[in-house]
Amino acid sequence: MQTLKAPQSAKRATIDRGDVERLPAMRPGFCDHCQNALPKSAINHHSRFCSSACRQTWWKIAKLRGAKLYYHLMVWRGHRGRKGTPGAGRLGMISSMVDRFIQSDRE
Ligand SMILES: [Zn+2]
Repeated sequence: MQTLKAPQSAKRATIDRGDVERLPAMRPGFCDHCQNALPKSAINHHSRFCSSACRQTWWKIAKLRGAKLYYHLMVWRGHRGRKGTPGAGRLGMISSMVDRFIQSDRE
């Protein structure tokens, strides 16, 4: 399998949370984590979360899930999903993972 080496500058890569925090809510007016209606103050501040606890939990889950998705996406991209390569079937795998995330969040 193809291996990728991180450049020296990426050793301490950080996530620009601001870029992610500024994304629109998945369901406008509702918390992206607990799905409860956002309080008016959160809506006024264009927040996607009803509380700091929900924001922190969402980030923990996003990092774990995101790392798995990133891995599979990079393998897929490295082989463009060609049959007979490690990239074959990865997009389907990613889609299935997201389905399981959604199912798990509903339970
Ligand atoms: Zn919430």
